[in-house]
Amino acid sequence: MKYFKNLALVYTLFFILFLSSSDAISTFAAEEIQSPIYYVRFSGQGLNVYADYSMSGDPIAVLPDSTYVQILLGPLDSFVKIRVYGTDLEGYTDMRYLKRLDAVVYDYDIYTYEEMNEDILQLQARYPELLHVNVIGQSADGRNLYDLIIGNPSAPKSMLVHAGIHAREYTNPYLVMEQLEQCLDFYDRGYFHEKSYGELFDNIALHIVPMVNPDGIALSQFGESALQSPELIQTVQACYAYDIATKRTKSSYEAYLTRWKANARGIDLNRNFLTGFGINVKASQPSYAGYSGTVPFSEPETLSLATVTLLYHPSVIISYHSMGEVAYWNTVESRYTAINTEFSNYMLSLVPYKRMGSGSASGSYLDWIYSGDTPVCSITFETGNVDCPFTLAQYPKIWLQHSLVIQAAAEYAYTH
Ligand SMILES: [Zn+2]
Repeated sequence: MKYFKNLALVYTLFFILFLSSSDAISTFAAEEIQSPIYYVRFSGQGLNVYADYSMSGDPIAVLPDSTYVQILLGPLDSFVKIRVYGTDLEGYTDMRYLKRLDAVVYDYDIYTYEEMNEDILQLQARYPELLHVNVIGQSADGRNLYDLIIGNPSAPKSMLVHAGIHAREYTNPYLVMEQLEQCLDFYDRGYFHEKSYGELFDNIALHIVPMVNPDGIALSQFGESALQSPELIQTVQACYAYDIATKRTKSSYEAYLTRWKANARGIDLNRNFLTGFGINVKASQPSYAGYSGTVPFSEPETLSLATVTLLYHPSVIISYHSMGEVAYWNTVESRYTAINTEFSNYMLSLVPYKRMGSGSASGSYLDWIYSGDTPVCSITFETGNVDCPFTLAQYPKIWLQHSLVIQAAAEYAYTH
């Protein structure tokens, strides 16, 4: 990431100033003893460790995956000073390749609603002062819809990150939960663009709706047996009959369900918002994808996301979808194209996704927020480069691309 390398030069000076404060040095010494253990992951050929902050020249060490390290200082943007655990080897490296050994958010295969629930409880127990958990609704099949808030809930500004509005795109809830844990872990010692995470989240309340559509996700992950309600199972079966009859699918029932995008009532939540509702709908009745419902905001999931948006007026919104490694940033009717040009340029300098053109309103969340009275900067990232649902083989690249998106967006919201 060239962007971060260039910043290294700028921040060398900042680090020197930071270290020259005796308070900083004593804090640093105390943290050195207490630092949790992290391990190297996603490094491929190994993680380079450098002698100084510029991260230039030959590395002084190359650490294979699973090497244990402790973080002595940082992160500052994507840099950390580390010591290899149990040795005297110290140096500077890229924090995106380090995962805390006792991390709460961890997944081997597919990240489920139940795992997320458990993770939310554990994160709440570990960070009771920093994480606020609101249940903002319940899905038709009885699953909680969450708004997770980091930092000061009554901060003057807020931002919103949401994932999993489309069922089969269920890698993104895992991504945002890892982003959340990282922000919590480094809350007291992380910096982004010279602002401490503490300062950022004291001024920008970060709202995360990690899994907008938990019923649909359960259905895509485990099939109809994941649903409790017999009525919903009947609805899903009726969707299959309709999609077969109209040639919208040729797949077996099981394969069809893995490709599910809608909620368990067969309504595509990203067609259920007010602006452009009913325009360009791809299905005329409940279906695995593309059906808007009969009225906007008919679904509890849509309503929950809309409520968080209307209650907190986020000035920055990040939407996670899959797939394609592309980014949507504008709509034809948007009231906020000008501010989004600058914001999207900035975000795409961090995440090198292809910028997509603007479409006309068709009931999506993006259409709706860009028609509202609150000026909003927003970008929609489409993660992954294979068809959904995809396995965690896609995840290392996604993590490296997105691990600093929240910090960057929060800093943008704070300074604009
Ligand atoms: Zn999507």
